[in-house]
Amino acid sequence: MCGIVAYIGKNTAYPIVVNGLKRLEYRGYDSAGIVLNSGSSFTLSKTKGKVSDLEEKAENVDKVSTIAMGHTRWATHGVPSDTNSHPHLSNDESIAIVHNGIIENYEPIKKMLTSKGFQFHSETDTEVLVNLIQYFRDTEKISLTEAVRYALNEAIGAYAIAVMEAENSNKIIVGRLSSPLAIGIGKDEFYVASDASPFVEFTKEALYLEDGEMATLELGKAIDIRKIVDNTKVIPAIQELQLTLEQIEKGGYDHFMLKEIYEQPKSIMDTMRGRILVNEGIIQMAGIWDNLEKFTNASRIIIVSCGTSWHAGLIGEYLIEDLARIPVEVEYASEFRYRNPIITDKDVVIAISQSGETADTLAALKMAKEKGAFIYGICNVVDSSIARLTDAGSYTHAGPEIGVASTKAFTAQVSILSMIALKLAKHTGKISNQQFHLLASELELIPEKVEKTLKLDEQIKEISKKFVNATNFLYLGRGYNFPVALEGALKLKEISYIHAEGYPAAEMKHGPIALIDENMPVVIIATKKGHYEKVVSNIQEIKSRKGIVIAVVTEGDEQVKGMADYLIEVPETSECFTPLVTSIPLQLLSYHIAVMRGANVDQPRNLAKSVTVE
Ligand code: GLU
Repeated sequence: MCGIVAYIGKNTAYPIVVNGLKRLEYRGYDSAGIVLNSGSSFTLSKTKGKVSDLEEKAENVDKVSTIAMGHTRWATHGVPSDTNSHPHLSNDESIAIVHNGIIENYEPIKKMLTSKGFQFHSETDTEVLVNLIQYFRDTEKISLTEAVRYALNEAIGAYAIAVMEAENSNKIIVGRLSSPLAIGIGKDEFYVASDASPFVEFTKEALYLEDGEMATLELGKAIDIRKIVDNTKVIPAIQELQLTLEQIEKGGYDHFMLKEIYEQPKSIMDTMRGRILVNEGIIQMAGIWDNLEKFTNASRIIIVSCGTSWHAGLIGEYLIEDLARIPVEVEYASEFRYRNPIITDKDVVIAISQSGETADTLAALKMAKEKGAFIYGICNVVDSSIARLTDAGSYTHAGPEIGVASTKAFTAQVSILSMIALKLAKHTGKISNQQFHLLASELELIPEKVEKTLKLDEQIKEISKKFVNATNFLYLGRGYNFPVALEGALKLKEISYIHAEGYPAAEMKHGPIALIDENMPVVIIATKKGHYEKVVSNIQEIKSRKGIVIAVVTEGDEQVKGMADYLIEVPETSECFTPLVTSIPLQLLSYHIAVMRGANVDQPRNLAKSVTVE
């Protein structure tokens, strides 16, 4: 989490850095700050709050400099406050730093520096690092670049940093370990950012620093990349950016989240494009095809992920076991990595992460790789850390997702998992050619069905009005729609701050039913092909206790109509693909409730996207 931006070149740096920070606010918005370098001293402005608060605070700050660094924070060490905001300066105020990540061993370093007379003003781990750099520079009498390298060799944890020196307005030094860092290369200028969005309109030439690398960006010189451990030179792998400005703007929608919900017919289509060849009987996915034996001979597939991606993983389990009959386990990455799991070289571990940077998922993968498993990635962000670590993988082509609550990345992940399941099922002969044809054709129709489901928006908005003041919600589903219920509840919690729980519908009677009374809204997914009769009985049970039922049903449903208080009718599809359709109304429901409650849906409190802390 946290977003960092830096610029060095011939243009005025302030607007570039501030606008860049706005694009990175999805990564954290506890505080924002900027440091400009006038050539001999720093101008620092930072504040608790958002980048817009920073702009107000920095109104009178000298903004002519052509070198600056900025930060938008998701606090890990120390409360969100002006003092804890980045950038941080070294004790002698000659070095400034912005940092994304956690320096895990900051305590012993702080102790050592304190014994040498250093003082600390903030509670952050970051302030320790900048002072360690000053310490090495001054005691070893080395350049700033070398001092940064020395300090990073001492640091344990995760970081993407940018550092500059007051006396030297020609140079920015950056480094990374487990936190992303993109560098844009212009004509006589460099851009640095946590992702490429801050500089997409300025240059298409970019490179992503690898773990354990640092770079010196000096005006008039080519980029100089080194390995942090031993200073060996690295050849820069410059690539052309595929990102466009249009992709990262709101395009007339009130919120990124709504735009992204509406983009789903396209994002699902883009994810499937060129991959489903119905008539040829093929699902074309190179990552799976090249490693087919690994999958088909796997003793089991383990899916590791967090949050919404974990829900996609659960749907993946249902899909792969149901269609391809290969055993699947789904694990929270954070639990998996610490519980000493049994992993062998017969296992395939699939990691799902929108950003491809999720710290726990990344760590779980590294562990699985060390233990010999074949590791596969499903990520949205091209060239992200997970994408680079894995043996193979499939990108979801959902396009940039900026709303913190994931929507289109989720359905893109489920689309990928649906294709993987189909491919494995076909290859292992677990489904006939005819079944394959039927399912693949149905999958191809999903974008159209999602489009149709989006037409329910107005109706869902009307329903939402009734629940603006709800304090609790229950979400129920069975089979393929159980993970959808979990995801629906998470979405509501995340953006509206209403407490919500997702449950397998049948589990209701083992506890949650005690909560049901005339004030409890229950969203229940009761589509025709998903254990319909059983779910109908569950609806009866809720109604007998006066609960308020919002039922998501298949178009034309008559039975639930007579029982539910609110009916949301979605197009029919194969049971295994229903999550791609039923999740849409739940996204819209959370969105409208949150907007009506006045919540900031794109930047919900305490949350951030791209969770690069563990
Ligand atoms: N650890 C730093 C802080 O709390 C950076 C936080 C982050 O990257 O999330 O200020």
